[in-house]
Amino acid sequence: MPDHAPVEHSPTTAEGNDDEPSSALATARRQLERATTHTDVDEGVVERLKHPTKLTRVSVPLRRDDGSLEVFTGYRAQHDDVRGPYKGGLRYHPEVDAEECIGLSMWMTWKCAVMDLPFGGGKGGVAVDPRTLSSGERERLTRRFAEEIRDVIGPKTDVPAPDMGTDAQTMAWFMDAYSMQSGETTPGVVTGKPPVIGGSHGREGAPGRSVAIVTREAVDYYDWDLSDVTVAVQGFGSVGAPAARLLDEWGATVVAVSDVDGAIYDPAGLDTNDVEAHDERPGMVSGYDAPETLTNAELLELDVDVLVPAAVGNVVTTENVHDVSADMVVEGANGPTTFAADAVLEERDVPVIPDILANAGGVTVSYFEWLQDINRRQWSLDRVHEELESEMLGAWDAVRREVDARGLTWRDAAYVVALSRIGEAKSTRGLWP
Ligand code: GLU
Repeated sequence: MPDHAPVEHSPTTAEGNDDEPSSALATARRQLERATTHTDVDEGVVERLKHPTKLTRVSVPLRRDDGSLEVFTGYRAQHDDVRGPYKGGLRYHPEVDAEECIGLSMWMTWKCAVMDLPFGGGKGGVAVDPRTLSSGERERLTRRFAEEIRDVIGPKTDVPAPDMGTDAQTMAWFMDAYSMQSGETTPGVVTGKPPVIGGSHGREGAPGRSVAIVTREAVDYYDWDLSDVTVAVQGFGSVGAPAARLLDEWGATVVAVSDVDGAIYDPAGLDTNDVEAHDERPGMVSGYDAPETLTNAELLELDVDVLVPAAVGNVVTTENVHDVSADMVVEGANGPTTFAADAVLEERDVPVIPDILANAGGVTVSYFEWLQDINRRQWSLDRVHEELESEMLGAWDAVRREVDARGLTWRDAAYVVALSRIGEAKSTRGLWP
């Protein structure tokens, strides 16, 4: 899940299946290897891209409300910065570890390059279940984590943002802790902040908006009509809810949405504005009075035109991919489809619009936020929406051209666009010393 969404546990995972490694790093490496067969990027560059530039691991002591002390482990993986500062979220989740952060940081490198943003890729987080922390504990943990990684981050070096289990308030504490130690207010050190302290309007809904824009373009590409299209969205949180609501507004029929406890289903279409998102009121989705309820696993198998997995990673696996009946998958979460499941969908000619394009609206508006912070001038919401639309259409076109010219899958095409930009930057800068 790309953005400050509530922590959820994967309803279906491929864990324990040795033929299908489900770690983000394993998937990211396999995707990179496969994509390089479609590019002429220098072998040495590809070799460099298999490894993160730097991995920082820190201990984060926290004084709990009851006076006890607990030590958590935090990470910041910095994958590549040839095109600009490392960029990517901070995740609070019990499963955060070094491998996951490295894999997710690789995806950020490609995501920023597909969008042609002047950023590289980073990702970090703390291995903690934020639901077990009070607001005061979350604040203390965040401030101490900011202090522990302050040497490796900064507005010109590495710019964190929200991700799973973190939100705009987390970024506000983080920015305050960093600024207090710097002796100057430094809004550009993180993005995804509340607008009142240098955040951008439209940042929160941006990943969902890009999912909707890309779905609209893909529907058009295949000559379908959005008003005939049925959509199921797994994860009605910070990505899924705005995506579902926009698609609903643009004429699609959203038949099912879910939260961690289950899904609601109405074949005639749900009124998505009537359902409160998980982060608006946890439990409201599954508690909603809908004609039918389903499990998360059943939602993934619905016979819809478009399936949007927008909750957690590894939900479409070899165990359930044969039951996925959608005609198209648009990835709202980061890494919802395992490498092996992706191959099955390709064989079945089911297009998968990849995460690094579909949910890239989040980091794109993060870039707008960073520009606003540097220039000390806030943009209107209309301007953010206009510029996001134009950036998404530019990226969509670049990827579509590769699909059309070479018959690649959407994921391979997005990788080709990203890798050629990164490869060119690396060759032009050279290796030193
Ligand atoms: N965490 C988000 C993602 O996975 C956004 C990162 C950012 O804005 O830097 O894309």
